[in-house]
Amino acid sequence: MTLLRVENLHKSFSGVHAVADVSFNLAAGEILALIGPNGAGKSTCFNLLNGQILPDRGRIIFADDDITGKAPRDIFHLGVGRSFQVAATFASMSARENVQMALMSHARQIWRFDTPASQQHAAEADTLLDQVGMAALAARPCGTLAYGDLKRLELAVALANAPRLLLMDEPTAGMAPAERHKLMKLVRRLAHDRNLGILFTEHDMGAVFSTADRILVMDRGALIAEGNPAEIRANPKVRAVYLGEEA
Ligand code: ADP
Ligand code: MG
Repeated sequence: MTLLRVENLHKSFSGVHAVADVSFNLAAGEILALIGPNGAGKSTCFNLLNGQILPDRGRIIFADDDITGKAPRDIFHLGVGRSFQVAATFASMSARENVQMALMSHARQIWRFDTPASQQHAAEADTLLDQVGMAALAARPCGTLAYGDLKRLELAVALANAPRLLLMDEPTAGMAPAERHKLMKLVRRLAHDRNLGILFTEHDMGAVFSTADRILVMDRGALIAEGNPAEIRANPKVRAVYLGEEA
């Protein structure tokens, strides 16, 4: 089943074609990587998909909804999550409380500050924390968590909204290689367990090739290649433009 359909998407910034006539599909449960050199237009693509910026032209169809031009909050509520924004967690609250907050928000409930040691969604929060390998750290204030643990907590917070599509713009930025591979392996397992579609970008080509089912390559706003990791590795256009090799 096609989860996301992007048709002829275009966005210019004062004459610069940041995203030029980009079209692609993403299936339910598919892990799709978007790669390309700096300034290729990857972040602009993400921002168009989650409604942060409006396209000049083109359409974005998510499941059965045309989400082109919709507000970020509405796109989020339809099931398009974004992960790995540090601001998404509250430093003084525990890891569990952060996930509980996200679950409350998903259920459109108000956090009851009058309930001491709130049990609201506590069991569900613990299940999510367990799925990201954070069960032992549930009671820790998230301001005291190590960087890699915070990333996994952010993933649990994103999953609390039960997204069908998760957008991850450089999820492993700032992580050491071992942590990065661990996180991407976790992302891959969660995607397959939950039939969750994932679009991500990532600088580490090892992580890209070992995580993605399929890869899109952008250069100067345009899609220049699309294929599975083996096809992308062998593509002369990609090697020339992206990897800086002679075609
Ligand atoms: P990437 O994420 O692949 O590095 P970006 O999408 O951030 O690329 O940028 C693509 C191009 O669009 C770049 O030339 C960048 O300078 C330009 N750009 C991105 N956002 C803006 C903006 N808000 N205003 C003006 N130019 C922008
Ligand atoms: Mg970027």
